[in-house]
Amino acid sequence: MTKPATTVLGLGAMGSAIATRLRETGHDTTVWNRTAAKTEPHAAAGAKAAATVTEAVNGSDTVLVVLLDHASVREHLEPAAAELAGKTVVNLVTTTPNQARETAAWASEHRITYLDGAIMAVPEMIGQPDARLLYAGDEHAYDTARPVLETLGAAEYTGEDPGLASLKDMALLSAMDLMFLGYLQAIAMMRTVGTSAAETAAETERWLTAMLPHGKGLAAIIDGGTYDTGGQSVDFDRFGIASLITASREQGIRADLLEPHRRLLDDLAATGHGDSDWPRIIDQLTIR
Ligand code: NDP
Repeated sequence: MTKPATTVLGLGAMGSAIATRLRETGHDTTVWNRTAAKTEPHAAAGAKAAATVTEAVNGSDTVLVVLLDHASVREHLEPAAAELAGKTVVNLVTTTPNQARETAAWASEHRITYLDGAIMAVPEMIGQPDARLLYAGDEHAYDTARPVLETLGAAEYTGEDPGLASLKDMALLSAMDLMFLGYLQAIAMMRTVGTSAAETAAETERWLTAMLPHGKGLAAIIDGGTYDTGGQSVDFDRFGIASLITASREQGIRADLLEPHRRLLDDLAATGHGDSDWPRIIDQLTIR
């Protein structure tokens, strides 16, 4: 069966990996990049190199956007709106949910079918089953583009709201960010007694791997909504976090990464929730 012709806008590390994967899986691939020299290896390998975005989107019904950020997407798609009308744009650029919704609204005004994507993978993983790509927006477009999208990795449709893939991406990246800051705190503390970063990283991995299943227990408490299961309380956790902060400072290491946790617990205790299960601090995260 003929594979759909596909255009890739942006040939940075990720765009290049995507264009290569599409070409190698038999898609008629057209590429464009702001710095034209980056199209050369792709052209040499059989892709079509376009000099402009407008030229690049001609001849493909599916256009994958892999530029740097929201601003570059708008900068380069807006002048090509007429040529993009009737086509499917899959925006794989990392954006916030509202930026995704904004681009979706713009696309709708110009009769462009829009899917917003989020790549939960690094370039080397593209085309492998452990690469996970999230999509949101027009469900019919997702179904139609699915064979192309599944070429890149496991594809997951998150819903019609075009901000949903990005929201999940940002939520998971937030969890990762906080986890890796945890590694740094542990390494900084252990370095004060000469333990290498490699050794503490290995210890941290062992410890976190053992602890990770408890995340589901926290979720059960939060979904239950009563915060009275008799598990670890706010007051108990305040005691624990105070020890971590003191121990860190005793070793000459700042506790700035731990302090926000203590503040959230203190706020709860001050409003009479010292006996509550500690995950109640999730309520404190809502901006009021
Ligand atoms: P790179 O920095 O490697 O490449 C950036 C690309 O964007 C280049 O093609 C660059 O063009 C282009 N670009 C930057 N600014 C502009 C502009 N103003 N106008 C036109 N083109 C511009 O980034 P990646 O390829 O790694 O990332 C691309 C997207 O993929 C990002 O949104 C990133 O968050 C996302 N992503 C990347 C992952 C990764 O591991 N790399 C993982 C998950 C998502 P030029 O060559 O001319 O500079």
